[in-house]
Amino acid sequence: LFVTFEGGDGAGKSTQIRFLARFLEDRGREVLRLREPGGTAVGEALRRVVLDPAHGAMSDRAELLIYEAARAQIVDEVIRPALARGAVVLCDRFYDSTVAYQGAGRGLDGAFIDAANRFACDGLVPDVTVLLVAPEAAVRSRMGRRAGADRLEQAGDAFHRRVAEGFAALAAAEPERVRTVSSQLQRVDTFRAVLAELVPVLPE
Ligand code: C5P
Repeated sequence: LFVTFEGGDGAGKSTQIRFLARFLEDRGREVLRLREPGGTAVGEALRRVVLDPAHGAMSDRAELLIYEAARAQIVDEVIRPALARGAVVLCDRFYDSTVAYQGAGRGLDGAFIDAANRFACDGLVPDVTVLLVAPEAAVRSRMGRRAGADRLEQAGDAFHRRVAEGFAALAAAEPERVRTVSSQLQRVDTFRAVLAELVPVLPE
């Protein structure tokens, strides 16, 4: 079972992944928690390249290709083998983030992004994608508390609005796979809503 979590910065993905991992582990499942970009030595190195403000302005196209490189690596090295042995894989961001950030956010060509995503994933598609959506005020208060917000998180409001619209369009285009969950409630209430969306695919 392959579940990805998507959403804007500060939507509460990491908390919900932690809750879901514990829920599944308590039921005896092997669970792999991954983050993208990252999750492999190559991917973590690429994450530092793309997120370190010390590297200065990065070309949008270079950024896209780095995300795709990290994705190809984690698919081959970690995700496929884990799924093959029956593990549950929970991934913090996957190719939908590229559609939303590099496509809707940065305005790169959508058809190219779709093709690059397919190439990087080699046909792998998440069974379910949980799209966490939080109202802007809640996000701001969460992000404000988080130390060392990176250069991407400091990008403007208009950018973040385009990203949110990009995610919403994905949910509208693929309602079977992409399940929208509002994260404005208490985080345990959010988790209940996440579980409700996952019931049809969760292992016994
Ligand atoms: O929330 P997370 O820590 O996973 O995201 C790290 C940063 O990378 C965020 O600021 C997010 O905006 C950015 N990102 C991006 N394009 C992606 C994935 C993440 O700009 N495809």
